[in-house]
Amino acid sequence: MRLISFIAAGRAGFGVCDDRGVIALGPRLGPEVQDLRSLLARDGVAQAARVVRGATADYRLDEVERLPPIPNPAKILCIGLNYEDHRVETARPKSAYPTVFTRFPDTLVGPGRPIVKPRHSDKLDYEGELAVVIGRGGRDIDVAHADAHVAGYACFQDASVRDFQGHTTQFTPGKNFPATAGFGPWLVTADEFGPPGAQTLRTTVNGRVMQEAPLGDMLFPIARLIAYLSSWTTLAAGDVIATGTPGGVGMKRVPPVWLRDGDEVVVEIDRIGALRNPIVAEGTPS
Ligand code: MG
Repeated sequence: MRLISFIAAGRAGFGVCDDRGVIALGPRLGPEVQDLRSLLARDGVAQAARVVRGATADYRLDEVERLPPIPNPAKILCIGLNYEDHRVETARPKSAYPTVFTRFPDTLVGPGRPIVKPRHSDKLDYEGELAVVIGRGGRDIDVAHADAHVAGYACFQDASVRDFQGHTTQFTPGKNFPATAGFGPWLVTADEFGPPGAQTLRTTVNGRVMQEAPLGDMLFPIARLIAYLSSWTTLAAGDVIATGTPGGVGMKRVPPVWLRDGDEVVVEIDRIGALRNPIVAEGTPS
């Protein structure tokens, strides 16, 4: 099942998106389920599947304004250096632990929405990634049970402002300019996506393939990430884990490839689909 968040007729909604169109869940589930995050917190995916069975669509997909699947996650945990070819291209040492940094929710944009190139930098780079969305939360989740805590998956564009990322050893500034992370195009539930591994992740810029790798190339698989993260923080429904990017980023190309106003970046993952975002320079009228 594909779950989306959207705005229609000026009001925020959430629902299921399939061949019929968009089937709004809010009116069908009642006022106690306000958004996808609260649906996940109530373990409500199976209930959602039941209430849309036999329903007719409320909207066409092109009638709604798309939001990130989870517009308001409590935590966005991003993993760095989780593919060997990216670790090698960035000349970082091997580590026994994953690199972790965080993003603020206001960095997220939905499918089709502009990623904003900051006026303070000309070094905006792409990073195609798989996003994991937590369903059942918890602390000290062990590897063997981690799968049961995943609600689903989406594509993630961890666009990075490289000069700000490199001002010190801490990544935070370069990863937190507003509207620099694409997230979508929808949340594909875990049952539909299947075990992550054989699916290919691909990033293109203006149609040119820049990154391509199977998800099975991750140095720290998702179950280990969940176990490690939940050893020091409490994971909650709707939390997002961006699982890292493969090799081929723009800053390590010769010459470097920096994203510019008018470019289009696409992250595509088998069994999810394509997340498209145009690049718009800050201050450019939209
Ligand atoms: Mg990244």
